[in-house]
Amino acid sequence: MSIENGKVVTIHYTLTSDEGETLDTSVGGDPLAYLHGANNIVPGLEAALAGRAIGDTVETRVSPEQGYGPRVGEPEAVPRVAFPEDVELAPGMLFNAETPDGRVVSFQIDRIEDETVYVDHNHPLAGAHLNFSVEVVGIRDASAEEQAHGHPHGPGDPHH
Ligand code: ZN
Repeated sequence: MSIENGKVVTIHYTLTSDEGETLDTSVGGDPLAYLHGANNIVPGLEAALAGRAIGDTVETRVSPEQGYGPRVGEPEAVPRVAFPEDVELAPGMLFNAETPDGRVVSFQIDRIEDETVYVDHNHPLAGAHLNFSVEVVGIRDASAEEQAHGHPHGPGDPHH
């Protein structure tokens, strides 16, 4: 069986920056399960895994366009008083905030000038090349329910 649309694929992966820093890894924990063809993982990694079989190892460098996208826009100015008073703010800190219509948005502090905080709404890995080292550890057919939901079910399922 090889990886194609409609398969639930289980992988161990390590994500490294161009500077050699490990950004994320499943090694030492549970492998990641995803539904192939359902945009569960970044497009460049999904493309590199197509056609692979259990036991294959894949090394791939994904461009920002095939990863978390290019960096867009300028940092937005937010008054310091919009942040909790007791939190020491610093560049690089990540925040989640709820919009008036109930969506959760993530942003990162770019810089702080006096009483103004400049926040960046890009994904922290936007604009970055992503170096993936992957081992394929499982492939199975997705159930009809998984296909309908667009993600795998079972152990480690974050959706239910
Ligand atoms: Zn589901």
